[in-house]
Amino acid sequence: MTDLMVQIEGETYPLTDCFWVRANRVGCAVSSVRPDLYSELIATPERAQREFSPTKRQRAADAKHGMQHLLLSPVQWAERAKPCLVGRCDHRPTVG
Ligand SMILES: [Zn+2]
Repeated sequence: MTDLMVQIEGETYPLTDCFWVRANRVGCAVSSVRPDLYSELIATPERAQREFSPTKRQRAADAKHGMQHLLLSPVQWAERAKPCLVGRCDHRPTVG
């Protein structure tokens, strides 16, 4: 597998070290996927979105709800996505 390099906030990483993260409109991660899940690398946000939303209808709903598909470095993933995925982030608005 070729080592495709990506730049995230000025730092260069092998794509396969990074994570595609699906986040809602406030940036709360709801799911993530490795770029090297299959033999074909997931290299674009559009391709990543298709993992989570295979149908056109789902992708239209994503757009409506402001879902985002972001490539995060391992450090960013640990800081921004992991707390969400384990339910310990501060994104959830307080009710009321
Ligand atoms: Zn969150």
